[in-house]
Amino acid sequence: MALTRETTSGSAHANNVASRELSVVVPLYNEAAGLTRLHERLAELADTLKTRFGLSCEVVYIDDGSADATLSIARNLPATSLDVQVISLSRNFGKEAALMAGLDHAGHGAILFMDGDGQHSPDLVEKLVGHWIDDGYDVVFTAKANRDNESPLRRVAVHVFYALVNWGARQKLPEDAGDFRLLSPRAAAALRQMPERNRFFKGLASWIGFRQLRVDYEPAPRAHGVTTFSAARLLGLSIEGLTSFSVAPLRFASLLGLLLAFGAFLFGLSILWETWVRGESVPGYPSLVVGMMTIGGVQLIMIGVMGEYIGKILSELKARPIYFVAEHDVKRIRTGDNANDGERTAAE
Ligand code: UDP
Ligand code: MG
Repeated sequence: MALTRETTSGSAHANNVASRELSVVVPLYNEAAGLTRLHERLAELADTLKTRFGLSCEVVYIDDGSADATLSIARNLPATSLDVQVISLSRNFGKEAALMAGLDHAGHGAILFMDGDGQHSPDLVEKLVGHWIDDGYDVVFTAKANRDNESPLRRVAVHVFYALVNWGARQKLPEDAGDFRLLSPRAAAALRQMPERNRFFKGLASWIGFRQLRVDYEPAPRAHGVTTFSAARLLGLSIEGLTSFSVAPLRFASLLGLLLAFGAFLFGLSILWETWVRGESVPGYPSLVVGMMTIGGVQLIMIGVMGEYIGKILSELKARPIYFVAEHDVKRIRTGDNANDGERTAAE
């Protein structure tokens, strides 16, 4: 098998197996309680992947400004079966920024993103890697098999969100897809090239294209603690995703405007009909108030929608870094004595 990097068409498979390295990117925010266990499971996973696929693994932990002992625990994790990088951000920047930091620091092989709370089971990773190496897929993403345990309201909200995001989109965002996904080296390289500051990771990973595969799974319950994504935060993320990803709300505004104008036109015609043809006097006040309130409300909403986009433009224009690194520890597996002397760099 040729181990050269080929990019010509028809060699997708060869391209994928060219670099046999896997970086597991794990964002951590107050995950001290389950971290040691997670690391043990990742080490076991690394051993399995080494024997089955000849993959060498590293794990990149991003401490997203945790308030608990996450960072000190992460720093002391041993690099027994896999290399360990620990990056601590200067404050809590949010999961999307943490994922970006992981992507920037990971090696140039394949990348696997998984949560640090035990919900994304390392056991499934072998299957995902198999789809990459054996079947030649570039983006292997997992999706919730069902949403039975979620409230009907939430399910409807999710549905509306995807309908809006995918409205008129060339590359549809798969519904229910999570952040637990594997990217082949070339897909990871594509993701690195996305210049925007408003990251909507799921969307970007789908937008890049390549050969994508959906794997259904049942997320495990959180190993400890509670989710950091409250309903309000999810709503914020949805608006963020929607406005950074699609112009559907703006189109919706234009359509609504057209519809209202058309309605008003018909209403005007009916008034003319009643006064001229039937000679009746039309009651003016209620219809006037209803009309004004409708128009006023719709206009306010649409100004809000435009404001969201202007805010996006402003934040892209400011071009601030997405995160700051406070500290960066690297531990590599030592062949032979297996000693782990970490390199540490204060802010890069
Ligand atoms: N996370 C993070 N920064 C944050 C919030 C969360 O890095 O500001 C991490 C968190 O440690 C976990 C992952 O993102 O590894 C998913 O978070 P969580 O479990 O709270 O979300 P859910 O699984 O409910 O979507
Ligand atoms: Mg979780």
